[in-house]
Amino acid sequence: MQICQSLIGGKPVTSPLPTIDKIYPATGEIVAKIEPATKEMLDEAVAVAAVAQRSWAAYEPLARARILHRAAALMREANAELARLEVMDVGKLYSEAESADVPSGTDAFDFFAAAITTQSGDYNKWDGAISYSSRVPLGVCAGIGAWNYPMQIACWKSAPALAAGNAFILKPSEMTPLVAHKVADTLADAGLPAGLFQIIHGTHEIGQAICEHQGIAKISLTGGVDTGKLIMSQSANTLKKITLELGGKSALLVFDDCDFDVAVQTALDANFYTAGEVCSNATRVFVQRSIADKFIAAMVEKAEHMVVGDPMATDVHMGALISAAHLSKVLDYVQIGVAEGAQIATGGTQIHPQGFENGHFMTPTIMTNCHDSMRITREEIFGPVMSVLVFDDEQDAIDRANSTEFGLGAGVMTTDLARAHRVADALVSGNVWVNSFNILPPGLPFGGAKQSGFGRENSLYTLDAYSEVKSVHITL
Ligand code: NAD
Repeated sequence: MQICQSLIGGKPVTSPLPTIDKIYPATGEIVAKIEPATKEMLDEAVAVAAVAQRSWAAYEPLARARILHRAAALMREANAELARLEVMDVGKLYSEAESADVPSGTDAFDFFAAAITTQSGDYNKWDGAISYSSRVPLGVCAGIGAWNYPMQIACWKSAPALAAGNAFILKPSEMTPLVAHKVADTLADAGLPAGLFQIIHGTHEIGQAICEHQGIAKISLTGGVDTGKLIMSQSANTLKKITLELGGKSALLVFDDCDFDVAVQTALDANFYTAGEVCSNATRVFVQRSIADKFIAAMVEKAEHMVVGDPMATDVHMGALISAAHLSKVLDYVQIGVAEGAQIATGGTQIHPQGFENGHFMTPTIMTNCHDSMRITREEIFGPVMSVLVFDDEQDAIDRANSTEFGLGAGVMTTDLARAHRVADALVSGNVWVNSFNILPPGLPFGGAKQSGFGRENSLYTLDAYSEVKSVHITL
C-alpha cells in the first residue's frame, strides 16, 4: 500500500497522526494512505523553504526559467504517468487527463518561465535624485487545492510562484494526494533545489495552520466559497496576500441564431466533462424559447448515448465522481429539483458499471422545467447535472444569467457578432466564452467575479500576484 507522506526538504517525512484513506473513485478501493502533517512538520517545511527561497531569489530570472522549462519538458515525457495518477486521484477519464490536465499544468511552467525573463521595472529621475522600482518575490507562498484538478492546481500555483523567485508549499486536497508527488519528482529531476516545492498533506486543520503561519506570505486557494471566506478570516491576523479561486454557477446563453450542433455539444461538454466536477461549468443552460424543445431533445438524445464507466477505457465518455458522499449529495440535488417542480429529462440515477460496481457513478442528468429560484439553479452542485432554463429575449437572458452570487464563467452561443460582443460585455463574470466553453490556453487570465473569488490564474496578472513592488530612491 502506497503511503503519502509530506515532502519536506526533498524528503518524505513520517507523521505520528492517524492516516487518511485515499480511495480510487472508480472502484471504491483504498489505494493509498495519507499521513497528515503535524504543525511541527509545517514549521519545519516553512523554515526549510525560507532558507531555500533566499538562494532561489538570487538566481537571475533566466537561470530560474531554464530549470522550469526543463521541468515542463520532463512533465511532457511523463504525461502518461501523470495522467494515470490524475485518474487515480479524481476518477476522471484518462483521455481528459492526458489531453487537458497534464498539458495544461505543464504549459504553465513554460509560460511562467518565459514570462519571468521579460519582467522589468521602472526608472525615474527626480530633482537631484533617481529612483527605480522592481518586482521582488514574496518569500514562502502556499497553495491549497481542491480535488477536481490536482495536477493543474499544483502547477498553476507553483509555476508562477517559483518563476517569481518564491518557495512554494502545496497542500493538496486530502482526497487527491497522488499526482503532486510526481510533479515534485519532476521538478527535482529538472534541477529545482530542495525546499522550493514541498508538499504538506492533511485536511482543513493543517490548512488552517498554513493560513495562520507567520512565515507564509501568500495563499492561493482553489476551493469552495465557504472555504474561501474561512481562509480570509484565518489569514487576517498575518495579513497574507490571498488569491481565491472559488465556486461557480455559470450560465450558457444559447440564442436561436446559434450554430445548433455546436451549441448542443458545447452545452453537454460544459456540464459532463470531468463528470461535471468543474468549477466554471455552465450548469445553467439558458435556451431561447423558439429552439428550446428541439435543443433539449437533441441534448437528451446525445446524453443518453454517453457511456459511463472505467475512466481508463477509451470508449467511455464520463468517469466517476470523487466520493460516495459527493455522489449522494449530487443525487440529492436531483431530488430537490424534482420536489421544486423540475423534471428529469434524462439521467438522475446512480449506476454500477460492470467491473466497477463499487465506484461512484451516475448518469449524465438534464433537468428541465427549471426556474431561477430553484435550489438546483442557484446552488453549486458540482456534478453532472444540467439545469435548462428558457428565455425570450436578450436582456431577459442577461439579467437572469447575472442574477447569482457567483461570477466565474459564462458563455454565449450566437452567430451574430454584434450580439456576441454586446452580451459578453453585459455578463458579470471573470471569464466569458463565445461559441465555446471552458477553453483556457496558457496566458488567458482565469478567475472569478463576485463570490467566485478574486485574483487570476494562468496569466501575467498571476505573476504579479506572487511578487510585490519595491522602490529604491537614490539622492545623488
Ligand atoms: P473545499 O473548499 O472543501 O476544499 C478545498 C481545499 O481547502 C482542500 O484542500 C481542503 O482541505 C482545504 N480547506 C478546507 N477548509 C479549510 C480551512 N478552514 N482552512 C484551510 N484550508 C481548508 O473544496 P473541494 O470540495 O476540495 O473542491 C470543490 C470546490 O472547489 C468547489 O466549490 C469548486 O467550485 C471549487 N473549485 C474552484 C476552482 C476555480 O478555479 N475557481 C477550481 C476547482 C474547484
